[in-house]
Amino acid sequence: MKCVTCGEPAIIDIKRHNAGFCAHHFIEHVHRQVERAISSFRLFSENDRLLVAVSGGKDSLALWDILNSLGYNAEGLYLHLGIEGYSDRSQQKAEAFATREKLTLHCIDVQKETGFSIPGLAHRVRFEPCSVCGTVKRYFMNRFAATHGFDLILTGHNLDDEAATLLGNLLHWQMGYLGRQSPLLPQKTGLSGKAKPLVRLTERETAAYTVVRGIDYIIEDCPLSKGATSIGYKEALNMLENLSPGTKHHFLLGFLKRGKALFPGDTPQLSPCKNCGQGTTGEICSFCRIIEKAARNDSD
Ligand code: SF4
Ligand SMILES: [Zn+2]
Ligand SMILES: [Zn+2]
Repeated sequence: MKCVTCGEPAIIDIKRHNAGFCAHHFIEHVHRQVERAISSFRLFSENDRLLVAVSGGKDSLALWDILNSLGYNAEGLYLHLGIEGYSDRSQQKAEAFATREKLTLHCIDVQKETGFSIPGLAHRVRFEPCSVCGTVKRYFMNRFAATHGFDLILTGHNLDDEAATLLGNLLHWQMGYLGRQSPLLPQKTGLSGKAKPLVRLTERETAAYTVVRGIDYIIEDCPLSKGATSIGYKEALNMLENLSPGTKHHFLLGFLKRGKALFPGDTPQLSPCKNCGQGTTGEICSFCRIIEKAARNDSD
């Protein structure tokens, strides 16, 4: 296969675009897809201060690299979750990339901040680690963005992630989530805005991008991630994609363009948490409730 742009040998074949690309034009293709997402969903502008949630994995490092190449003002935030071995190794990858590209990476150690690692906190409050982890990550990202003057938090969710979320929400008729699913979640009471600029790129493309750009990322999965339902949804969508290339793209992008408006999108009313000030539907946010419960169980 030849590169569709220059005719040199292709290093990747992207069936849904019916095109192959050499390394140089593949990088251009990736940048173009991200620029299209930024402009078509009006995610942000060159003047915005952007905070990338960096995990050390391929998607977040690819996102940071792309934004940097496109000239955006983006700093990184790494949260050390206290997951034995894995957290240290992923932080090293994030730091090595930031040093190589001369980018600013901020790091927060969750154990130092709260007194607990994520596994420790989950054990103490007897919740699923991923549910505790999601709440803790949201809290620290929002707090950091608000106190350091960032306009938007960016995450590395890609086309596969978003299509799997959409499939899960459809299978369970989650009307509210369906109405709210978007690559741009605007700022709300006490919560920063969030955007997902990789929404037009598949996992395979972000992985290939990191290889071509020589970005070293953490390959192993988080040891606490076992058995996530979303993996099954991704496999089902990949099966359909193999039968008919472009299925995932049309499913997600078509939904955002035409389907989403059919769902009510009940925006929950938020008020500031009485304890920390972040937006919540109750009086006390879920982060503060988790920390209070962990402290209570500590004294039991
Ligand atoms: S897999 Fe679960 S515990 Fe691990 S980083 Fe992701 S959300 Fe956190
Ligand atoms: Zn080429
Ligand atoms: Zn709170």
